[in-house]
Amino acid sequence: MGKFHIWTIGCQMNTSDARRLGDGLEAQGFEETASRGSADLLVLYSCMVRQHAEDKVRNQLAELRRLKQQKPATRIAVAGCVGDVDAWQRQYPFVDFFLAPGQDLTVRDRLADLVELDQYYRIEPPDAARAPRISEGITIHQGCNRNCTFCIVPSTRGRERSRAPEEILGEVRDLVRRGTREVVLLSQIVERYGRDLRPRISLAQLLHRLNDEVAGLERIRFLTSYPGDFHAELIEAVATLPRVCEDINLPLQSGDDEMLREMRRGYTVGLYKDLVGRIRERVPRLGISTDIIVGFPGETEAQFENTLAALAEIRFDVVHVAAYSPRPGTPAAIYPDQLPLEEKKRRLHAVEALQKGVAESINAPLLGRTVEVLVEGEAKGKWYGRTRTNKLVHVASSEPLAGRLVDVRVTQTSAWSLQGELLVPAAV
Ligand code: SF4
Repeated sequence: MGKFHIWTIGCQMNTSDARRLGDGLEAQGFEETASRGSADLLVLYSCMVRQHAEDKVRNQLAELRRLKQQKPATRIAVAGCVGDVDAWQRQYPFVDFFLAPGQDLTVRDRLADLVELDQYYRIEPPDAARAPRISEGITIHQGCNRNCTFCIVPSTRGRERSRAPEEILGEVRDLVRRGTREVVLLSQIVERYGRDLRPRISLAQLLHRLNDEVAGLERIRFLTSYPGDFHAELIEAVATLPRVCEDINLPLQSGDDEMLREMRRGYTVGLYKDLVGRIRERVPRLGISTDIIVGFPGETEAQFENTLAALAEIRFDVVHVAAYSPRPGTPAAIYPDQLPLEEKKRRLHAVEALQKGVAESINAPLLGRTVEVLVEGEAKGKWYGRTRTNKLVHVASSEPLAGRLVDVRVTQTSAWSLQGELLVPAAV
């Protein structure tokens, strides 16, 4: 058997899918290599969500074209978000396989002449050599049936499809057996998990099953949430299930109702605030992050200021802010009144500056408090991990802590992370 190399960019769903593909290849006897030159199979997980990511993917493909010229026997596969596969095939004829999301069977068939991927979706790869991470993402649902006007996901990942709960439980059990302690359930619109399955199952019901049925699993998170689908049953699951973390990612995108209408988001700022209020009432120690787009076509200064005002009022722990990036084929890409890049950057920096102050003031009261941290690894001489509310914590320890739940007293806070000292290491 040969060697494979996987290059990944973009969201955690790509990372999760790349891990599963890597596990499947190793189960077939393939060996992972860090060197592209020595790989027999190169897989590139693509992202099209922003122009910047697409540019990086195309740069990678230019390099792979050269590599293929030098070593024609190398098989090259492109997976993840690619949009119009036919157009990509015409543009990059040297690519042997396009593995679009949702083409699972096609993937197996098309790779069959190179590798036998019968076990690509096997639940328990035997003695997989690669240790999974302490916190692993798991794709539970692909695609999106909504049509937000800025978003390329519906055309790159297709209609919504859920994985069967037994398959997810099997994958989580396998990861936990191999060392994982936390799973992050991934989807573009995670509350819609299970609606297409028969019998139907909700995300909250899946959380119950994972909480109750997987011994050794310490923590469960899920993302990305859609405000219109975050119902009371899910709030109760976050409030009551001990392994489900008090941590949600709930994109607001804009703090202005007219902009939300133009984006076709399907909710108002008032409805969003009301939802956050209800979640916080039931889950008082909630960690909440959001996504914001600045410089959407036609966004006036006053509308942008409405976003700043919403961020100051709601007070998120983390804000992922992006300058609007026109994606070919999406409605907003041809809207009039596209904003100049410089103006989009100015608005982006204004959000970052505001959020720095908000996050500092949220984190400052944690000084001297004890937080529970799941340690994920070591970097630059310190161990790092996250609280249940998803705050990054650094802590010094001479003994290995990876995979442990430890109590840490916070000794320093900033907008982005906490420093702390180890109290009582819990038994693994
Ligand atoms: S809900 Fe999310 S994934 Fe679906 S179209 Fe809107 S932004 Fe894209």
